[in-house]
Amino acid sequence: TDTDTADEAVRATCDDATICKRFATSKGYWKDPYIQYFVRSVGERKAPEINRGYYARVQGVNFLLDAFLKKTQCNCQVINLGAGLDTTFWRLKDNNLMPQKFFEVDFPTIVSRKIHYIKTKPPLSKPIIETHSTDSLLLDAHNLDSDRYCIIGADLRNISDMEEKLKKFQLNTELPTLVLTECVLVYMTPSQSSGLIRWVAETFHTAMFINYEQANMCDRFGQVMIENLQRRQCMLAGVDTCQSLDLQVTRTVSRFLLASPHSGLFLWDGPHVEVVTVIERLEFLDEGELLQQLLQHYSISWATKDKLRLGKVLCFF
Ligand code: SAM
Repeated sequence: TDTDTADEAVRATCDDATICKRFATSKGYWKDPYIQYFVRSVGERKAPEINRGYYARVQGVNFLLDAFLKKTQCNCQVINLGAGLDTTFWRLKDNNLMPQKFFEVDFPTIVSRKIHYIKTKPPLSKPIIETHSTDSLLLDAHNLDSDRYCIIGADLRNISDMEEKLKKFQLNTELPTLVLTECVLVYMTPSQSSGLIRWVAETFHTAMFINYEQANMCDRFGQVMIENLQRRQCMLAGVDTCQSLDLQVTRTVSRFLLASPHSGLFLWDGPHVEVVTVIERLEFLDEGELLQQLLQHYSISWATKDKLRLGKVLCFF
């Protein structure tokens, strides 16, 4: 059917993301020793603008995620919706920043591929076994469940089914919970994505929602803008705070967390000029304008809810 074909195209996007991330790491933008197990070869060259865009995306999401984990002292859960072949679980394990439990949800066919890679590559399976206390580890075609890492095959557009599966694998609605959607909501209708955000706001008393995707406030991507605004209104209805930045920066992408042109927020406290210089030296950019345009079309948003005021755990900035 048409729906099946459309869904197949959506599923293929997870390979694109992983291929681009793999290429950027091969150029030295950031380190990811695990991504090679999900994409065999480095693949064809990508433009420097693309690599810097992925750099900003990965650094931005990691920054907010790590801040949440540190604030909650890892006494929390993370749910990565539409995780694809993401390698964050292994990064957190290596950095001693593992939440109580790390959940991922994606279409069953993507999940079974990911599980197959995990089963057949010891560097991927070892950390999961190491953090698991009993002998029995659930591994079937569409689900992986261990003490600290759980991968679930489900359709994000069917929230009750997804919730049922998450609860079957010990989702704890009493724990502070971070929900991440990285380039995922754009594949759903506004009402479907709003429903997902509302579910987060209604299910957890203490939660943070991070969304990264293509969305510009004032240009031809107007449709995306409207959808984004609807989502944010919905977020505001259920949560305490909501902030959004586009990735546009004056000099380079790694500065986007330094200051938001809209809110004047100061998000990254150290002098990161060194980082900026290192990143800029990796590849020559002959058209800075192209990068600016690209970055303006992506935004990172986050919303928090802290009903119990647990020492204002989620008040980052
Ligand atoms: N978040 C990952 C990343 O940034 O590397 C993957 C991003 S990829 C562009 C989008 C992912 O969302 C794909 O893995 C796709 O299968 C998943 N996805 C989109 N719609 C979905 C749905 N309705 N149910 C489950 N997964 C979905």
